[in-house]
Amino acid sequence: MHRVLLLAVMVLLPGGCGVPAEPGAAAPAPESRTLAPVAAVDDARIRATDAEPQNWMSHGRSYDEQRFSPLDAINRGNVAGLGLDWHFDFPTDRGMEATPLVVEGRMYVTGAWSHVYAFDAKTGALLWHHDPKVPPEWAVHLCCDVVNRGVALWQGRVYAGTLDGRLIALDAATGALVWSQQTTPTDKPYSITGAPRIVKGLVIIGNGGSEMGVRGYVSAYDAATGGMKWRFFTVPGDPAQPAESPALETAKATWSGGEWWKTGGGGTVWDSMAYDPALDLLYVGVGNGSPWNQQIRSPGGGDNLYLSSILALRPETGEYVWHYQTTPGDAWDYTATQHMILADLVIGGQTRKVIMQAPKNGFFYVLDRATGEFISGEAYAQQTWTTGIDKATGKAQVVETARYHDKEALVLPSPYGAHNWQPMSFSPRTGLVYIPVQEIPFVFKHDPAYRHHQGLWNVGVQIEAAGLPEDPAVAAQVLKMVQGRLVAWDPVAQKEVWRVELHAPFNGGTLSTAGDLVFAGSARGEFAAYDAANGTALWSAPVQTGVIAPPISYAVDGKQYVAVVAGWGGALPLAGGEVARLAGSVNRSRLLVYSLGGKDTLPAAVQTTRQPEPPALQADAATVAAGKTLYAQYCMACHGDGAVGGGVVPDLRYMSAQTHTEFEAIVLGGLRHERGMVGFASVMGQTVLDAEGARKIHAYVIQRAEAEKTRLASAAQAAAAGSAEGPR
Ligand code: CA
Repeated sequence: MHRVLLLAVMVLLPGGCGVPAEPGAAAPAPESRTLAPVAAVDDARIRATDAEPQNWMSHGRSYDEQRFSPLDAINRGNVAGLGLDWHFDFPTDRGMEATPLVVEGRMYVTGAWSHVYAFDAKTGALLWHHDPKVPPEWAVHLCCDVVNRGVALWQGRVYAGTLDGRLIALDAATGALVWSQQTTPTDKPYSITGAPRIVKGLVIIGNGGSEMGVRGYVSAYDAATGGMKWRFFTVPGDPAQPAESPALETAKATWSGGEWWKTGGGGTVWDSMAYDPALDLLYVGVGNGSPWNQQIRSPGGGDNLYLSSILALRPETGEYVWHYQTTPGDAWDYTATQHMILADLVIGGQTRKVIMQAPKNGFFYVLDRATGEFISGEAYAQQTWTTGIDKATGKAQVVETARYHDKEALVLPSPYGAHNWQPMSFSPRTGLVYIPVQEIPFVFKHDPAYRHHQGLWNVGVQIEAAGLPEDPAVAAQVLKMVQGRLVAWDPVAQKEVWRVELHAPFNGGTLSTAGDLVFAGSARGEFAAYDAANGTALWSAPVQTGVIAPPISYAVDGKQYVAVVAGWGGALPLAGGEVARLAGSVNRSRLLVYSLGGKDTLPAAVQTTRQPEPPALQADAATVAAGKTLYAQYCMACHGDGAVGGGVVPDLRYMSAQTHTEFEAIVLGGLRHERGMVGFASVMGQTVLDAEGARKIHAYVIQRAEAEKTRLASAAQAAAAGSAEGPR
């Protein structure tokens, strides 16, 4: 019953697709106080960040991105007394992935649709809010929700990327726009969801779009003026043309056949970066191939550099220094864009300067960050695509059948990754890395009828084959394989030290503190603190929504706080269907700040029941089957596998009578474009769906609604029969 209620809440939430109205209605009443003036964050301050433990000045707190707070006022001994200090309800209902930054008592955080907010970090008073006015129609070009992972601070300004590819600089005191740069071609489906990093006065920013079809690159812009300083492409362009860099000249030989450059090739730098000031190396994580299917992208095989690689570049010029490829010839969406941590570890009696990453492919890597030399790599989750890493060459050995040439292949990890963008953290006190790990099986099947759709999903596999089987018994077996857990990993011994089962995938990023605590939220809507040494749960609070974002800690006037943005969304909650429903979450977008003895409370969660009310199904089985295929191709990525909504955008099985009436006007004509639902008659100038296609999809959705109605009725009957038996 719990699940039914949650589904119903999701349907009834106002503004189901989530373009925000003006914020503030639910804001707490703040105390008024005089804030310290905005001070300039710069290179020297970020390098010496441990001298300012009260602040969290850059994305991973420090350039080494350890996400370790030296604050210890909140610790193992007293964390049980943690309470909500203040909260803020954002005016959106889409995924929240940002890391808040805090300096001099001011907090800067991004929300859905690239909105930027500034708060008094002590009272929660909203200081300003900047809406960059992203066209809602751009949402169709996003693989994984209209999210943003945070801002960068520099010399009194706040920098953020926008979903439509702009880099903006705002005045930190007022939120006023200082400059704006379009960093991507506007006729291609690029997007920015990642946080910029700033090194030596250069704003480093990448982008996303490999699922749609783009060519990856990372760029640097002058923080003062917005002028572009350099751009590094991660995959070769047209091999008939001269390459943009010597590194790409080398990369050309690792691509074979096909015409990847016409639709991009992928390799987007959509999230992770780190910087070592002593070595003067900027590290960027590179994403998957586009399309996913290597038989289409590079049919002659090859490693396809620099897909799924960590790249070390000179920050002032973008010059290539070294690379390490995690997945040779990627065919599974195995990005190496997952969070990277720099640390000095004693390995074999020697202090090594390492870079660590747990990318989607399931290996935990420890590399020498000066040279890129492979030190070690072991599986932190189940893998079927590889037999392990050749320790002599550092190269992963691929199981050929996992490449799904002739036959579909069930593969672990899935494109959701054994670990996705949700940041891990490192505690220098325990020497452990804390990782949100997940296991989700996925069936890859070659799409022989593949054709490129400008601006839409172009992955070259039959997504329908990856759907949860409709047979409830088989589906239940698959769902049993799905796991989510918090893992403490020893990077020197390359082994798991402890784990906490979280019972659903897509959980929150982690924070380690000098109080020997690990903080993390869960898909099921808890925010919790664990003993960093052994994983004992020491404190938790319900937050009424899935938490995917990573927490931070800061202090104002000597008092320590822990902050996290909550709000279920992102790749799995949109596309996952029943897998996403394991969490039972809906989106409530909010900022939560905790302190010892905090006395704030959340408003009661509104729950309403609703039943599916589909019109009579008038189509035959063949039409429904055709609709299922079209649904998988065009609708599933946002509305969920099997038309089962994951708690973010509307669950189509629960459409109102009016929505059923308006179905074609919405799906073809774009009647709800202001909420991010574009018309699919034509996208980026290319014809996509006609009325017949829309009617087939509608028939499939009606059939799914009928199935849900039947299931609910029999569940209610079984419950009634159970209660008639009386108390046991
Ligand atoms: Ca991807």
